[in-house]
Amino acid sequence: MIKYPSRVSQFSGLLAASLFLSACSPEITVETKNTDSDIACKDKALAIQVLGSGGPIADDHRAGASNILWMDGKAKLLIDAGGGTFVRYGQAGVDFKEHDAILLTHLHGDHAGGLLALLNNGGFSKRTQGLTIAGPDGNDLFPSTSAYLDSLIGKENGALRYLHPYLNDNQALPRLTVKDIDTRQPGLQNIWNEKQLKVDAIAVHHLDVPALAYVIQSGDKTVIFAGDQSFLSEDFVTQLADSKPDLLIMHNAITMDDGQPRGLHRDPKSIGETAAAIDAQTLVLTHHMQRAVQAQDAVNEAIAETYNGPVLLADDLSCFPL
Ligand SMILES: [Zn+2]
Repeated sequence: MIKYPSRVSQFSGLLAASLFLSACSPEITVETKNTDSDIACKDKALAIQVLGSGGPIADDHRAGASNILWMDGKAKLLIDAGGGTFVRYGQAGVDFKEHDAILLTHLHGDHAGGLLALLNNGGFSKRTQGLTIAGPDGNDLFPSTSAYLDSLIGKENGALRYLHPYLNDNQALPRLTVKDIDTRQPGLQNIWNEKQLKVDAIAVHHLDVPALAYVIQSGDKTVIFAGDQSFLSEDFVTQLADSKPDLLIMHNAITMDDGQPRGLHRDPKSIGETAAAIDAQTLVLTHHMQRAVQAQDAVNEAIAETYNGPVLLADDLSCFPL
C-alpha cells in the first residue's frame, strides 16, 4: 500500500490499477489489493463483491455493473447484471443455485443486458427452488421488469423462448417470481425480509428511466446501492438521512465540467453531499466512466468538499468485507 495523507483508496481486482495509480495526486491514499484475496471474497462471512465496475461504454477492462452479496460462502444476492457479468461471475466462483434474489436497479443494458447469459447458465445448475427477480416497473419508454423477462424468455414472445420453463413452473429450471417495484411510490418498499437478510427498494431519478436504489441489511450491517441516480433523487437522501450505512455504493460517471448529463447522474459534489447527508461510513465508487476516471483527482476533491469519510475506488472483482 502506498501511503498518502488523505483517505481515497484504490481496490484492484483482476487487473493492475495502473491507470488510477498514475492519475492519483500525491494527497491521495492508494491501496491495491491482490487478486487472490479479491477472488476469495466468497470466504468472508459477509461481503460485497463488485463483479463489474464499469458503465455502458466498453473502453476499459471493466465489465458492466454487477455486484454480489456474499453471506457465509453463498452468493445470496446478485445486484444488477450488465454486459460482461458472465465472465466475472465465473471468476468469482458464483453458483447460480445460491441466489435468494436478483435485484435490478433499472433496465439499461449496462445493468440488465447480461441477465440472459446468467439465466442460460443457471439452467445447468440443477436448481429447483424458486428465485425472485425484482426490478422497476415500466413507463412509456421502458418495459417493466416482468415485461423484460417475457421479452427474453417468454413462451410466446421470448427471444430465447426455449428457456420459458423459468416462467412456467417446470421442475427442470428454477421457477422465477418476478416483482415489478412501483417507482412512482415514495419511500422505502420492503421486498425481502428474512431473519438474516432484509432488502428495501427506493425509487430514484434517472432521467426518463424507472430506476431504483437498494438498501440491504444483515444483522447490524447495512449496504446501500445508490444505482444510477441524478441530483433530483431527493427522496433517497431524505429517507436515508443519517442512516450510517457501512457501505454506500455510488457511481463515478460524470465530472464537475459543464455539459455533463446531470439529469442522469450525480456529479461529484452531489455524491459528496449525499454521502455526508446519509453519513456513510465508507463510500465506494464504481460504474467508472472514462470522463470521470480521467479527472479522478478533481472528482475526489469535489467529493471531499462535503464528505470526509473514506472513499474506495472499486475495480472488477473488488471485495469489501463487512
Ligand atoms: Zn449505468
